[in-house]
Amino acid sequence: MSSANNSKRLSDLSNGESGIITKVLGRGAFRKRIVEMGFIKGKAVRVIKNAPLLDPIEYEIMGYNVSLRRSEAMLIEVFSVHEVRQQGDEQVRTEQPSYEGTLSDDILKTSAREKGRNINIALVGNPNSGKTTLYNFASGSHERVGNYGGVTVDARQARMKQDGYTIHIFDLPGTYSITEYTPEELFVRRHITESLPDVVVNVIDASNLERNLFLTTQLIDMDIKVVIALNMFDELQRKGTRLDTEALGKLMGIPIVPTVAVQGRGIEELMRKVIDVYEDRDPVVRHIHINYGPTIEPGIKKIQDAIWKNRDIADRFSTRYLAIKLLEKDRATLNSLEHCPNLQEIVQLRDTEVQYLEKKYGENSETIITDAKYGFIAGALKETLRAGPEEARKTSNEIDRVLTHRIWGFPVFIFFMWLMFQATFSLGSYPMDWIDAGVGALGELVGRMMHDGPLRDLIVDGMIGGVGGVIIFLPNILILFFFISLMEDTGYMARVSFIMDRLMHKIGLHGKSFIPLLMGFGCNVPGIMATRTLENRKDRILTMLISPFMSCSARLPVYVLLISAFFPRNQGLVLFSVYVAGVLIAILSAIILSKTLFARKDVPFVMELPPYRIPTLRNTSTHMWHKAVQYLRKMGGVILAASILIWALSYYPRNVVYSTDYDAQIAAIAANPTLSADAQEKQVAHLELLRDGEHQEQSYIGRLGRLIEPAIRPLGYDWKVGVSILTGLAAKEIVVSSMGILYQADTQSDDSGGLMDKLRQQVHTSGNRIGQKVFTPLVAYGFMLFVLLYFPCVASLTAIARESNWRWALFTMVYTTGVAWMVAFLTFQMGSLFS
Ligand code: GDP
Ligand code: MG
Repeated sequence: MSSANNSKRLSDLSNGESGIITKVLGRGAFRKRIVEMGFIKGKAVRVIKNAPLLDPIEYEIMGYNVSLRRSEAMLIEVFSVHEVRQQGDEQVRTEQPSYEGTLSDDILKTSAREKGRNINIALVGNPNSGKTTLYNFASGSHERVGNYGGVTVDARQARMKQDGYTIHIFDLPGTYSITEYTPEELFVRRHITESLPDVVVNVIDASNLERNLFLTTQLIDMDIKVVIALNMFDELQRKGTRLDTEALGKLMGIPIVPTVAVQGRGIEELMRKVIDVYEDRDPVVRHIHINYGPTIEPGIKKIQDAIWKNRDIADRFSTRYLAIKLLEKDRATLNSLEHCPNLQEIVQLRDTEVQYLEKKYGENSETIITDAKYGFIAGALKETLRAGPEEARKTSNEIDRVLTHRIWGFPVFIFFMWLMFQATFSLGSYPMDWIDAGVGALGELVGRMMHDGPLRDLIVDGMIGGVGGVIIFLPNILILFFFISLMEDTGYMARVSFIMDRLMHKIGLHGKSFIPLLMGFGCNVPGIMATRTLENRKDRILTMLISPFMSCSARLPVYVLLISAFFPRNQGLVLFSVYVAGVLIAILSAIILSKTLFARKDVPFVMELPPYRIPTLRNTSTHMWHKAVQYLRKMGGVILAASILIWALSYYPRNVVYSTDYDAQIAAIAANPTLSADAQEKQVAHLELLRDGEHQEQSYIGRLGRLIEPAIRPLGYDWKVGVSILTGLAAKEIVVSSMGILYQADTQSDDSGGLMDKLRQQVHTSGNRIGQKVFTPLVAYGFMLFVLLYFPCVASLTAIARESNWRWALFTMVYTTGVAWMVAFLTFQMGSLFS
């Protein structure tokens, strides 16, 4: 198809011929490079010579020579100097005679400007959206209006003048989508990718936004200049529907002009907007990415990287668009890549990704991507569209009417959260008891089978005690993950971030930050990684910084232990309150940080609302199974190693000098005939308790604990709590393992009760609270808050460092620990005043 204004491409010029650049087509990196080399509007270029195989071609520009590939020269629009001659003839004649073959700079520039004042636009839209009507009105021609199928697929072309520009309008056949199912679609697609219109005018039927915007999402993927003509605006108004066109335009990064084509209303404004966009003057224009979600995006990226290696392709198309198309199994796109040297690699990547997606969702990859697009549209419209009374019933999704209701949405959400925590606790307690009993039995069995000595102590106290103490919380963790994956799979998670958006704005975040934060309840690491879906870097970092306050499942064992031991009533509620406390502190932090370190202006973006799906049991259970495996692996690795280390640190040195000779006293009691067997046993146990306690205080870990004791004493803790805190730096489950090891050693009465009883009996052995119980409900609660808030585990810190940099990770470390101390301090000291 020939270009509208007869201008040539640079590649069309023959040896020795000169031209003036009128336009640089192409995109991204190519554009930048070419502009840097001096190929800008109004500059003269001369062909020095075509290489033997016509590629590359050598040019002279601004006095130096460069060579361009033919594919690159094809993207530069010029007009040949002969034309300028004719145009500028009179001027040339009246001016001082100049050398033949040269023209004054002024003439060149004016001519280029004149020539550059041509804009090619293409009308793209659904059938019956009013393209032809608009086209006729704008150009004053009289094409037949109305929908007719089966006509030859063709583009009509006309032109109009506006503000000194000549606008060449192409009326394309109507399509619902730009795929390859119909000749119309292929035609439209080829027109956009090959004729490269300067601006695409997307004509939309305002009375049927959702369907019409689908095509728009494809234009967004293509990353081209678009203006939306929101046609049939009269219909919209008649129905009483209100649409915030400005906000919608900002969300999509595309300016929107309401039009009523039949009356010619808005067409002038539309063309002005087209000129603004063409001249890069429009503030609304912005390239956005439709977010296809954490499952699809990495695949897009991988394929994109492979395509990127082919420069001539990347110069002309958005690689992201091509990658998405490939994932949709689009054949035309594949054909267009057929000359890529790494085609094999691209196809392979695509096949693996498609397989992965289809297996995961049990659906055609094309459907998956279509759903994501409709999710984007639903999100954008939800924020900008208020259906009139007539339409309200019909269009709004019945489920969403309740779940994302302005007021009812919140109690429903809070109810679901409460249900999740309640189930985590109450359902989890049964299997927890079984595992507890199993671990206890195993410890006893191994203990009886082995001889006394360090090895037995290592296996029974260090390994079984340490790992067992944590493994019993596996059911709770599975239940929590079950709920989280349920929310993700049904699509409710996206609704939650939608209803939270306004609140999130208040604290300086975006609704989209909510999903990473919510995922943080499972594990902070994926939560931190999920911040990638946020478009703005500052949003990303701020979200990362506060996500450690979301209580991850690793902290759950600590709460379950302490709540079981010290809060006989309202256990679910107490647990819920700890989580809420984390959220509140995250909110406070966000407010403070967004006012200080992250002051910035808001960028609007769409929150995708994917269709509700009924999750399959298979999907959810695979999800849970993965979590279980992950958790167990962590158990075998970090936690086992830490357990052994802690055990060793508390076991050695063996040659402790005791304050009294316990062994002699025990022997004396055993030999005392005046005591009953019962009394003997009691006294011996008491002495052994004192001896072991004293040993532990002098062990390496005891010394370490003592070292930090002054720092934690104001929080009401003894040195053992301090040691547990230290060991939790690696992973927070280890806090429980350490407590298991440290407190287990204190009593010989292995009969029953386990760690909880031991915690209840624990008394201060030094300091001004000596003899008092260490753990009261108040101290336990303060300690839960401390564990909730302090030092995110090593894995989270690494994730933060990877997603931002080490400085932020370091900042998080100091910040969270500082906050933890303050909160625990205030809880304990204020609470002590009232108790
Ligand atoms: P095309 O298929 O996109 O080319 O759409 P047409 O231009 O053929 O228009 C389809 C129908 O919509 C015709 O009956 C037009 O009269 C009507 N139409 C076009 N624009 C408007 C508008 O702004 N408002 C209303 N109410 N009708 C319109
Ligand atoms: Mg038409």
